[in-house]
Amino acid sequence: MLYDLHLHTALSPCAEDDMTPASVIGLARLAGAGFAAVTDHNSALNLPAAEIAAREYGIRLLPGIEVNSAEEIHLLCYFPSVENALKMGETIYEKLPAVHYDPKIWGAQLVMDENDAVIGRVDKLLTAACSLDIYEVKRLCESLGGLCVPAHAEKDSYSLLSVLGFCPDDLDFPILELADPDKYPALVSRGFLPPGREIISSSDAHNLAAVGSRLRELPETSALLTLP
Ligand SMILES: [Zn+2]
Ligand SMILES: [Zn+2]
Repeated sequence: MLYDLHLHTALSPCAEDDMTPASVIGLARLAGAGFAAVTDHNSALNLPAAEIAAREYGIRLLPGIEVNSAEEIHLLCYFPSVENALKMGETIYEKLPAVHYDPKIWGAQLVMDENDAVIGRVDKLLTAACSLDIYEVKRLCESLGGLCVPAHAEKDSYSLLSVLGFCPDDLDFPILELADPDKYPALVSRGFLPPGREIISSSDAHNLAAVGSRLRELPETSALLTLP
């Protein structure tokens, strides 16, 4: 099954406003994906619309949030249900700083329904770091039955390796997301990442053209298939 498990919608301030949940899911399906995850920054509020769209388009939805930890490490948190993702989102929102947020500077944060109608806006800046550290984010995600996956782990910003420099032994991530999965063997041999992990790689789309642009095949044994 082809997947794209890192997709933003218009709820993320850095994503284009035409990335409605229904458009993102529909385009992922058109591109050939059978499994898609909507993973907005620090919020799950567009997942209910994405879930309805996924049902209509006949694509399997993996509910997700891309949490920004206190260390400014992006962590993809995947959940067995939209309900659990929303619970995580509520906690993360409480842990975000109440920074004055100007949509003219940062971009709009649109909560939408399945018909592309704007049904709400979010007051706090969603790309800010929450006050939970990487251990706390992982623990909270797992307590809700989820799987926590370091996002674009080898990139030079907002990533496990850019912030910590390596993956500590007491942080056991069974799955890692890499922007370039071909780099995994070299990162293991240089001691930056642990061996034997499942590697995923997705579009991290912030505009419609990028949705489904880098589809990959998910192994049938993937733990992600046991979630939703
Ligand atoms: Zn990210
Ligand atoms: Zn992202």
